[in-house]
Amino acid sequence: MAPEQPPPPGSSSSSAEEEDDFGYGLFPERRRGEAKQARSFLYNSLFTFNHKCQLMLKIALDSNPYARLLLDAMKNSGCTVFKDRHFSCEDCAGCVSGGFDSSTSQIVLCQNNIRHQSHMNRVVTHELIHAFDHCRAHVDWFNNVKHLACSEIRAANLSGDCSLMNEMLRFKFGLKQHHQTCVRDRAVRSILAVRKVSKEIAEKAVDEVFDSCFNDHEPFDRVPHSKQDAKYAYRDFQNRHRYYTNV
Ligand SMILES: [Zn+2]
Repeated sequence: MAPEQPPPPGSSSSSAEEEDDFGYGLFPERRRGEAKQARSFLYNSLFTFNHKCQLMLKIALDSNPYARLLLDAMKNSGCTVFKDRHFSCEDCAGCVSGGFDSSTSQIVLCQNNIRHQSHMNRVVTHELIHAFDHCRAHVDWFNNVKHLACSEIRAANLSGDCSLMNEMLRFKFGLKQHHQTCVRDRAVRSILAVRKVSKEIAEKAVDEVFDSCFNDHEPFDRVPHSKQDAKYAYRDFQNRHRYYTNV
């Protein structure tokens, strides 16, 4: 699992699990081997959350250029993503927004924590980058912290998690290399949220692979800093692919 924290910093992202449960504690509906618990009196409101989550997911997959590009790229790589099979809207613990469950190749969307379409778009994009990495390379998510670090760097860099607008909303002005700093910080936080490792180990893993993973923009041909950038990237991606199929 690779759960993501929502935008507000300061909320302790390292509310890590007591034992090494690979993040499953953050996704209570997803504990291995446990049947879903009977629905409580909250069923009706949960159903509403679930319904809204499904609607926002559909909008993200149909119209968000980041998501569209990733979906097409995965299809080209033989890893077609299906909305019903590969996404799951669930309640999550704490303030986690989403995660990628590599054991089932499913993206978990935290229906109780994703309230806005823009947030949904970012979470879907972030997790699709993990799914893309899972598809194209043999990623050892659980045993090699550098593999996880690389995918977290790419997800933070390419998903818009650290786009200027997000950063401004978080009142972080004036840092010269704010994008790199943001990507590094978020990658470290994401690792700490799912692995019982020290901050030093997480930072070391991120720093060791940072340059190569930060400069690996696949399947984008640039770092999309805005939805408009992503639109252009998607258009170019479609054109590239069109030329390939026509020759
Ligand atoms: Zn992640």
